[in-house]
Amino acid sequence: MTSHELPPDNCPACGWEVAAVSPSDPRRKDKPKPGEVTMCLQCGFLAAFGPDMRLRRLSRRRLAAAMRDPDVQLMVKAHMDLWGGRQQ
Ligand SMILES: [Zn+2]
Repeated sequence: MTSHELPPDNCPACGWEVAAVSPSDPRRKDKPKPGEVTMCLQCGFLAAFGPDMRLRRLSRRRLAAAMRDPDVQLMVKAHMDLWGGRQQ
């Protein structure tokens, strides 16, 4: 699976150290861009990349919009299947 290094950061929800990101679609090879939604593999928290590629909390409105995105729905479902919806 392709993964891309990120500037060292921590999940805004659980504090897990984030150093790389992998696409939800393994066919995707390009790097993530600012504004894209990503998920913490540790706790399932949804965040967006800021202009500096550090993780930012989503506003309630952005979170609602993200949850309508089929790619995000797949990420959430995969996380639930893997971890049983474990959240912190
Ligand atoms: Zn987390």
